[in-house]
Amino acid sequence: MNVIKPFVPQLVYIEPRALEYPLGVELKDKFEKMGIEIRETTSHNQVRNIPGDNHLQKYRNAKSTLVVGVRKTLNFDTSKPSAEYAIPFATGCMGHCHYCYLQTTMGSKPYIRTYVNVEEILDRAEQYMKERAPQITRFEAACTSDIVGIDHLTHTLKHAIEYFGESDLGQLRFVTKFHHVDHLLDAKHNGKTRFRFSVNADYVIKYFEPGTSPLDYRIEAANKVAKAGYPLGFIVAPIYIHEGWRDGYRKLFEKLDASIPQESRDDITFEMIQHRFTKPAKRVIEKNYPKSKLQMNEEERRYKWGRYGIGKYVYTKDEEHELRETLEYYIGQFFPNAKIEYFT
Ligand code: SF4
Repeated sequence: MNVIKPFVPQLVYIEPRALEYPLGVELKDKFEKMGIEIRETTSHNQVRNIPGDNHLQKYRNAKSTLVVGVRKTLNFDTSKPSAEYAIPFATGCMGHCHYCYLQTTMGSKPYIRTYVNVEEILDRAEQYMKERAPQITRFEAACTSDIVGIDHLTHTLKHAIEYFGESDLGQLRFVTKFHHVDHLLDAKHNGKTRFRFSVNADYVIKYFEPGTSPLDYRIEAANKVAKAGYPLGFIVAPIYIHEGWRDGYRKLFEKLDASIPQESRDDITFEMIQHRFTKPAKRVIEKNYPKSKLQMNEEERRYKWGRYGIGKYVYTKDEEHELRETLEYYIGQFFPNAKIEYFT
């Protein structure tokens, strides 16, 4: 099994303004000591000169490049159905999941950005919480990145977990495909953070999720996180029809069943997202991963109208029904007390 090591950038860009914040200074110092090349960039939105002779080389190098910047836009996007708001600590990801929607949303900027003005971001979160009081406000920290994948370098997520641990009105959630969770195990979360792992059938992980942690490592990390008292969750996404898929997903649930401690099973959530693609996403995927086996045949799918006139292709009604029934059956069989949050 090819175990993924914690992410180390090949190249770092720093915005001069980031050095006005303690985390910016700390990261610069850290990367200097690690002997990583550091360059200056005027803005995290306009990083130029990523090395590479062609598109594919530039794309791969960008995904190994970390930009340390200041988040200027402090208006949070909404994040239905998993939370009220997306909290922006980072953008981009070092993983190479073929189906990842960040390829389309980040367009020509696939590099990874981490924001050092964490206190300002948390202050803004506080305002959103006040607006919605006395209702609870949930913040999703993994909408635009796999935040766990870079947190061993920044500890931003750990800081946020402890911040929400003290909060009466806020809750944090995020999802990851990485197993580098050890530094988060002693965070004072007070049960306010739901720690979710993205899991899938072996076939999907093997062919479509290079650059992420193997399933067994994710499950082992989930076990540690459960033992550290975090509310736990799993996202099965993208649910993908392939030869032997019923068996593949059953094996997944058997593995989860063998590893997840009994005491955490009364507060466990499952979210399910079937595979989908848009026409623009298909074009980008074919460019970034030209040898991918990912099936994106419009004729075999059902078209669903979407926002901004860009519809998505999902499975047919019959296939969707079968996928949903099969996975719900496994969840009911192995985790009868779990909550299914949605199937989409
Ligand atoms: S781990 Fe998540 S964010 Fe990263 S490439 Fe894969 S799907 Fe995208």
